Formats: sequence, structure tokens, C-alpha cells
Amino acid sequence: MEVKDLEPKGIWQNFHLLTQVPRPSGHLEKIQQFLLDWAKDRSIEAFQDNAGNIVMRKAATPGMEDRKMVTFEAHMDMVPQKAADSSHNFLTDPIATYIDGDWVKAKGTTLGSDDGIGVATAMAILEDGSLRHGPLEALFTVDEETCMYGVNHLQPDTLQGDILFNFDHESEGEFVIGCAGGMDVAGELDYQEEDAPEGICIKLTLQGLKGGHSGLEINLGRANANKLMVRVLADAVTELGADLVSWEGGNMRNAIPNRAEAVLLIEEDQKADLLALTARWEKTFQDEYEGIEEGLSLTAEDAPKADKIVPEEICDNLIDAVLACHNGVLRQIPAIPQIVETSCNLGIVKIGQGKAATDVLVRSSRESMLEFLGQSVNAAFAMAGMKTQYQGRYPAWQPNNQSAIVAVMRQEYKNLFGEDCRVEVVHAGVECGIIQTVYPHMDAVSFGPTLRSPHTPFERCNILSVAKFYRFVLKLLENIPTK
Ligand SMILES: [Zn+2]
Repeated sequence: MEVKDLEPKGIWQNFHLLTQVPRPSGHLEKIQQFLLDWAKDRSIEAFQDNAGNIVMRKAATPGMEDRKMVTFEAHMDMVPQKAADSSHNFLTDPIATYIDGDWVKAKGTTLGSDDGIGVATAMAILEDGSLRHGPLEALFTVDEETCMYGVNHLQPDTLQGDILFNFDHESEGEFVIGCAGGMDVAGELDYQEEDAPEGICIKLTLQGLKGGHSGLEINLGRANANKLMVRVLADAVTELGADLVSWEGGNMRNAIPNRAEAVLLIEEDQKADLLALTARWEKTFQDEYEGIEEGLSLTAEDAPKADKIVPEEICDNLIDAVLACHNGVLRQIPAIPQIVETSCNLGIVKIGQGKAATDVLVRSSRESMLEFLGQSVNAAFAMAGMKTQYQGRYPAWQPNNQSAIVAVMRQEYKNLFGEDCRVEVVHAGVECGIIQTVYPHMDAVSFGPTLRSPHTPFERCNILSVAKFYRFVLKLLENIPTK
């Protein structure tokens, strides 16, 4: 059986069409044209706005004209990640999908069910003439996965809906009604390199950490490679008078760094001491993270002799800044203690060749706490002489506990499946918060079928959850409140 033959056919056939069109973030011309052509072939009203988002509309079925208008929302881009041995070209190749038991998967790449399943759901409803619903609208956004470009450039006169269904959540049966806001605190410093003294170079490699999502998984107690490496470096500099040549840890602001490398210069007769120090720290870290980071290793190996080093004062300042910078959860939401309110991820440290750069992603569902932690992080790096700035700030999506549509959803979910849904606030960015800054009257909920390991080559989509989700959406559309 192929993916396009799965039930409900409306979703899976459209999902299959989407997998045939390359759509990595930043390269969306093909998918934009595809969506416009798709709508034209079916006489569905559609246009592309100035930001590149695609909007489609469908009139109410007879007798349902007085219902509130529902806007479906999903992002058209996908994260291009592939396995080390994959030769896939995300700019030109279709995604090769297959069915494995209860799951749809891709061969060696991300599947793009995040958020292709959301797009396909809206397409299925728009093209099906047999359904009962009020007035409908769909918004397919641009580059959610990188900078949320599409929603950040949304104009106030583009949408007409009263209710926003964001189909970009990964657990069936869960309705998200709020999320954390966030911003990056980026630090930069140019320095004059110094000539390296006599000695040898040793490269330290810390690896095998789990890493993970810097918001959703920040409360799991996982190690941050930069925060571990700084302790080794501080010790080597203080105890052995080592010089720093370079340091590179993490490469994504929104992933917990799972690896860091640093090159140190030491006097030749101190090599044994450095190896002993490294082994000591490896043992300490393995003890600290027992039961969490089973694959953790810290190794030292000979490296080519460097010509230049980081000046001692700069090195000391940068080490102090990384030591001082908060990392991880700052606190939980006081009224919902199981959910993280404020956290940060010391995602990137890159030092060498006359440049130092750091990037910390700060998140909070409370603006004043976002501000506070941002300032604290900023202070650590500013004191080290770095030029710091706030970047990419996006607002928190404040939960509305009086939401009329959530009340309907709770009831309909129970009626349909005989079980309670879960209503959640998440510690990650969702487009709803930004859309609501442009359309404050919209009653917004984020939900979807069950996906696992999105943003990795292990991404998979649960087939039964898609059917359950779709059944629920169709039932919901028949029960949208009147205006
Ligand atoms: Zn997504």
C-alpha cells in the first residue's frame, strides 16, 4: 500500500502531492506555485500576499452562512534534515515516503508531515463538496521553521476569519491555547589574536549528549555541551596556564548543544596533566548526568600546532561570561507548575580567528520575565566586553481561559470519542501568538495529529491519529457557533 491510498484519502492524497514538491524553508517558489495551480484547477479562490503566504477561501454550505468564519492555518515550508548517508537534494528531489506499521515515514530525510499534514488537511476540506461547514479560509504561511517570516509580515487586511485553527501541533487529543514568546541574545567580539608561545596543541571533544528541542525539552535535565566545556576550560586555564586557541559548541540557537570542541595550547611537559584533568572531568560529568546522558564522552587528542591564540584577558572574560550565563529552566508557571514559564538555552559559542560569537535563546510565557532573563543573559556577555543585541523577538501567546471555541472543542471531543482532551500551554513558539498581534479578536487553538521526531530524519506521522483528527475537525466544523 502506498501513502496516497491511506484513509482519509482527502488528506493523504494531498499530502502525497505535497511530498512531490520541494519546499525547504527559504525555497518556496515551487510550493507557492503548486498551491495556486491546485486551487485554480478546483475553482477555489486563492491568492498570494506580499509576504508570500497563500490564502484560500470557500463559501459556507447552504444553511451554514451564519456561522463564524474559521481560518485554517499551516506552514508550507519544512525542515530539510537528512541522514548522514542520504544523497537527497531538498531543492529538487521529491520526498520518498513509505508505510511502516502504524506510521508514515520518509527514506533518510525529514518527512515534512510538519507541517504538510496541516496543509493537506485544509486542502482536503477545501476541495470536498460533500461536507457541511460555515465560511472557511486557509492561510499557508512562509518560513515558519526559520524566522516565522510569513506571519511576521502578515497584514491586517489579509484574513477575514473569526476563529483560528492552527494545524501545527504534534499530539492528537491535545489543544494548545498559549505559548511562550522568545528572543535571541546574541554577543559578538572582535579581538586581536596573539602569537602562540612554544608548546603543543590538544583538542578536547565533548560529545554523545542527547541535545534536543531548546523549549519543549529544556526541563529534562539534559546537559548543555557549552556549559560543560566551560568548566573544563576554566580549570585548564587556571590550573595549567593553558591558552585557548578556539572553541566551538552548538550550531543551532534552538537546539540544546550536544557537542563542543576546544583547542588548547599548553607546554609540552603538561600534556599528562591535561589528559588527567580531562579524564577527571569526564568522570564528574558522567556521574552528574547518570541516567540522563548515557553516551557522554570527553576526549583529548593531539592537534596541529596553532600560530595564534586568544589573548589571556579576552579568554578569561569569555569563560567568565559563559560560566555566569544562566542556562535551562528559570521557573515554572506559578499557576500551572508542570509547565515551564521561563528558560534559556546557551545554544552557540564560537571563538577563534579573532572573532567570538554567542547566541542564547530566551523563552517565557510572561513578557516581564522574558525581559528579565534577557537582561541577565545580556549582562553576562556585556560585562565580558561583547557587543550584544536582542534579535528575533516574538510575543508570547497568552492563553484565553474564556475561549468559546475551546469550550466547544472540549465538548465535541468528549461526545465523539468518550474521553477528555487535554488543553495545554507549550514552552515553544507557535504562529498563533504573532497572528493574534495582527488579529487580536481571533479565537485561536493549535492542534493536529500525532507526529514523532519532527526536524529529524526519523520524523514519522501516526496514521490512525490522522483519521481521528480529521473526524474531529469535520465534526467541529458542523458545530461552529453562529456570529
Ligand atoms: Zn511545524
